[in-house]
Amino acid sequence: MFPNLMLPAITLNEKCEKLRKEVRAFLQNERKAGTYEPRCDSWLTGYSKEFSRKLGERGWIGMTWPKKYGGQERSALERFVLTEELLVAGAPVAAHWFADRQTGPLLLKYGTEKQKEYFLPSITKGELFFAIGLSEPNAGSDLAAIATRAKKKGTKWIINGSKIWSSGAHHAHYMIVLLRTSPVNPNNKYEGISQIIVDLSAKGVTIRPIYLMTGEHHFNEVIFEDVEVEEDMVVGTIGEGWKQSMEELAFERSGPERILSTYPLLEELINQLQYTEDEHAKVLIGKLVSRLWVLREMSLGVAALLEEGKTLNISASLVKDLGTQFEKEVIEVVRELVEILPSMNGKTRLEVLLAEAILHAPGFTLRGGTTEILRSIVAKGLGV
Ligand SMILES: Cc1cc2nc3c(=O)[nH]c(=O)nc-3n(C[C@H](O)[C@H](O)[C@H](O)COP(=O)(O)OP(=O)(O)OC[C@H]3O[C@@H](n4cnc5c(N)ncnc54)[C@H](O)[C@@H]3O)c2cc1C
Repeated sequence: MFPNLMLPAITLNEKCEKLRKEVRAFLQNERKAGTYEPRCDSWLTGYSKEFSRKLGERGWIGMTWPKKYGGQERSALERFVLTEELLVAGAPVAAHWFADRQTGPLLLKYGTEKQKEYFLPSITKGELFFAIGLSEPNAGSDLAAIATRAKKKGTKWIINGSKIWSSGAHHAHYMIVLLRTSPVNPNNKYEGISQIIVDLSAKGVTIRPIYLMTGEHHFNEVIFEDVEVEEDMVVGTIGEGWKQSMEELAFERSGPERILSTYPLLEELINQLQYTEDEHAKVLIGKLVSRLWVLREMSLGVAALLEEGKTLNISASLVKDLGTQFEKEVIEVVRELVEILPSMNGKTRLEVLLAEAILHAPGFTLRGGTTEILRSIVAKGLGV
């Protein structure tokens, strides 16, 4: 009925399963060495430069990119397996996550040769990190309302404005900033928007922390005051930034991180279930696991089609919507079981993971596009 929603069924080949074993062995060793403690939402809050560098040494950042830019020319499905294992393990991957997931693919598609040669090899080594500069105080869901602007002066662009909710900008070296390079056309607000790479240590850039409920510093406000950027830092074509950044968002929305943010909590719940014979608990968990499996198949299907170069806004939006609902449901099931099953009480690790997941959960359905916006993309795409 809706051919643009059909996703292929994927069987992972031997190469993928071999890689899975390697990644698991690496993660087990790291756990044994005490390098990290599994966390929910580790792809946003698990920051470790050292860990990113270790992944880089193994060729596990930018692994699908061309070898001449430091990549390994491996398949999108191999990358899927790697990211799945890292998330399931709750490993600290936040430092390089955005550069690996979206900056690299964006530069490979739209960047100049000079940009690719300069940025990509250091990203693959786990040494260079990027932040995403989309949202502004008055432009979130209505992203085309951005007011940050760049004016041309000689060979430079002069940037003024501010970004908000910039994850990890205080750790990142660069930000790809979505901004206006010409005034708003009232007949087409998507025109005149561009993407420029900004060095976050440049004169005129101020990064202010916004603290989470947990007290953690994850978000930032980033202010640009007469920041000078050379014209060779423009990504793609001036005025085409809207289209470019929407393509970037398809990579952002469909990955396993939209399903697995609460996996360490689910796993700990299943570990604890060995102490109970409660049928209700088993049914609840059985349902969660079967839904997880279906969502994973969908996410795999999207990964396979993205590798073929397809544009998948509708499927990617659907995966994110269903995936983030699932992530929240894991929390609700654990909450219910902790209350009704005495054997679940006092399980410190379960409770720590639960508390962390509860505090992070409000962001699941906001980041990368809110549920309402995703549903509107799906409805419009299906002609509903
Ligand atoms: C954990 C996390 C990490 C983030 N990281 C980044 C980052 O690194 N870089 C970055 O640029 N941004 C980041 N964001 C910001 C995120 O992209 C925005 O929060 C999101 O796009 C929503 O924008 P807003 O917060 O301005 O909410 P608003 O757009 O003001 O929306 C408020 C509410 O109104 C609803 N709404 C708005 N418009 C409509 C409509 N037309 N129809 C129906 N309902 C509507 C929304 O669904 C929402 O529920 C992050 C957010 C979170 C939570």
